[in-house]
Amino acid sequence: MAEIIMEAKALTKQYGKQKALDNVNFKVREGSIVGLVGPNGAGKTTAMKVMGGLVFPTEGSISIYGETSEKGLCHSRTRMSFVIETPYAKENMTARENLEKQRIQKGIPDKKRIDEVLEIVNLTDTGKKPVKNFSMGMRQRLGLANALLGKPEFMVLDEPINGLDPEGIVEIRELLKKLNKEEKTTIIISSHILSELSLLCTDYIFVDHGRITGELSSEELERECCEYFRINTVNNEKASAILTHECGITGLEATEDGKLKIYDGLDRIEEISTALYKGGATPIELCRNAVNLEEYYMRKVQGDRI
Ligand code: ATP
Repeated sequence: MAEIIMEAKALTKQYGKQKALDNVNFKVREGSIVGLVGPNGAGKTTAMKVMGGLVFPTEGSISIYGETSEKGLCHSRTRMSFVIETPYAKENMTARENLEKQRIQKGIPDKKRIDEVLEIVNLTDTGKKPVKNFSMGMRQRLGLANALLGKPEFMVLDEPINGLDPEGIVEIRELLKKLNKEEKTTIIISSHILSELSLLCTDYIFVDHGRITGELSSEELERECCEYFRINTVNNEKASAILTHECGITGLEATEDGKLKIYDGLDRIEEISTALYKGGATPIELCRNAVNLEEYYMRKVQGDRI
């Protein structure tokens, strides 16, 4: 089991009467890509700012790489990089000039690192073009290049795919996947669009109104959003045996209310219902279900309001 490198315990952040975070607990495992998903104003940026030490929690605590004291956290943060809100860059300077300025400010001695990060984010050929003429995607990629200068082990990225076109989203997604796989970089990334994060994250944390409304792995999300048949028969125990042994169903699950769910054999439903009927488990309900990512998101973040 991978090590927990960050843990938020009972975090609350209050701005006046507004609770941006309300008793939030979550963990980040080393090597994971965690998606922090929620609508505007949910508290995602605030959570990331607390991680970065940009705001102090009103209550609760965080631990990063085992450190909890302010001094210890400062040290842990040297292993991390943060892209929170619009990445800052000097508009009249080129990508290379901006990175060179940041390299000196951060005290990174290796000049070659600029070429490496420009290559990683695919900005090598922007030449003399000043940042003011960059597209949104190029700006986001420059922000990532800046975050990569110090070879971080753990990146905190606030909506880095915000405003990108589908091609730009795929590009950033592939880049982050590569960093995670090849450099073993742990990533926490926020978005208000679940489908933008799908195919990227290993874990998802849903936030709404400063609270965590759900946490699940990518496998669990895939399971939640795939197609299945819900089956209820006159004898579900018998039905379960028929489905497994006669019909060869491997994806079988019992629901909380005692019904059955099957995830495979969906194209053989006629044959399956006949087998159930003949075996003495007459079906009384057979219902195809499919939840897409956006429906799932709405349920998770707005379940109590719809
Ligand atoms: P978005 O997707 O719009 O960036 P978010 O999920 O990142 O939203 P936050 O920016 O963390 O949400 O804001 C959470 C709540 O806290 C919002 O209601 C916001 O108005 C409030 N808030 C954030 N920063 C401040 C601040 N400095 N002063 C007062 N209220 C704030």
